[in-house]
Amino acid sequence: MILALSGGVGGARLCQGLIQVARPDELAIVVNVGDDFEHLGLTICPDLDTVMYTLAGLHNPQLGWGRADETWHFMQMLAQLGSETWFQLGDRDLAVHVERSRSLAAGEPLSAITAKFCERLGIAHQVMPVTDQRLRTCVLTRDQGELAFQDYFVRQKAGPVITGLRFDGAETAALSGPLKQRLASPLGEQVKGVIICPSNPWLSVAPILAVPELSRWLQSARIPVVAVSPIIGGQAVKGPAAKIMRELGAGTDTLGIVAHYGDRVQGWMIDETDAALAGAIRDRGAHVAVTQTLMTTPEVAAALARTAIKLLDELQ
Ligand code: GDP
Ligand code: CA
Repeated sequence: MILALSGGVGGARLCQGLIQVARPDELAIVVNVGDDFEHLGLTICPDLDTVMYTLAGLHNPQLGWGRADETWHFMQMLAQLGSETWFQLGDRDLAVHVERSRSLAAGEPLSAITAKFCERLGIAHQVMPVTDQRLRTCVLTRDQGELAFQDYFVRQKAGPVITGLRFDGAETAALSGPLKQRLASPLGEQVKGVIICPSNPWLSVAPILAVPELSRWLQSARIPVVAVSPIIGGQAVKGPAAKIMRELGAGTDTLGIVAHYGDRVQGWMIDETDAALAGAIRDRGAHVAVTQTLMTTPEVAAALARTAIKLLDELQ
C-alpha cells in the first residue's frame, strides 16, 4: 500500500498516473483541506474536488479547477443579485458543494462524504481528506497582515508578498477515520511508502504534514518517501510556488524544494531540464530519478507514477 499526498492540480495529475499503475488495494490518496472554506453558505473543498474530478475524468484541464462541460447560469444570477462573484462556481459543480454542505450539516464526516462522492463518480481508489476536522491555511503577508487562504489565492490572485503561513486548527486536528485506519492496518496491508505529489510544498503539502499524528507517523514509521518536484527550470508549472519560494527566501529552483523537505524525503524525481542538479541532491544522501515530470498527457503521468513506485522499491 502506497500513500500519495496531494493538493489540487499538480497532485491530481500524478494521482491520475498512479491509478493507472496501482490497484485500488495498492494506493490511497490523502488530500489537503487547508484551502477549504465557507462561501455563500456552502463548504467548498477545492483540492478534494480537483482530485475527484480529475480521477473521474470530469476535470477542466484548461482552467485547472472545476468541471469540464460546465455552464455558469448560477454565477450570472448571483451577479444580478449583487452577490459575491470573486469565487466562480459552475452549475454542475454547485451540486457537489450543496450536497456536501447538506451532508456535513447532517453530521456526516468529510471523509465519508468524499468516499460516497468518489464511489458515485466511479473512482475505485480511496481518496480521503487528511482530517475530518477544521484545518485552515492562513497566509501571513508583508503588507496586509494575515489573509484567509482563498482571499489571498483567488480574490487577490496570489499577489500579496508572503512572509509565512499558519495552519489554523492543525495542532488539534486528528487524522480522518479512513487515514487512521490505513496507518494502523495489519501487516499485509501496511503502508510501504509515501509519494509526495508535485503539489505546492508550502500551500498544499505543508497543511497535510502539519497534522501532528501524520508527521509523527512519518518520522517513526521509517518507510521511504519519494517526492516529485513541482518546480521545473526554476519555474512552477502553474500557480505561485516559485514566487512563494523566492518570497520566503527558500531558493529559486528544485534545490530549494529539496532543502524545504529535508530529511523527510529520501527519493527525488526531478525533470530532465534540471538534470544538472541531480549531483547536488545525491550529495545530500538522497536517491534521484531524472525524467520528464511535466505531465502533458495521462500517459506521461502513468510513466512518472511508475518511476515513482520503482524509486520507492529501490529505497525499501
Ligand atoms: P492547487 O492546489 O490546485 O493549487 O495545486 P497543487 O498545489 O496540487 O499543484 C500546484 C503545483 O503543481 C505547482 O507548483 C505546479 O508547478 C505543479 N505542477 C502542476 N502540474 C505539474 C506537472 O505536470 N509536473 C510537475 N512536476 N509539477 C506540476
Ligand atoms: Ca489547492
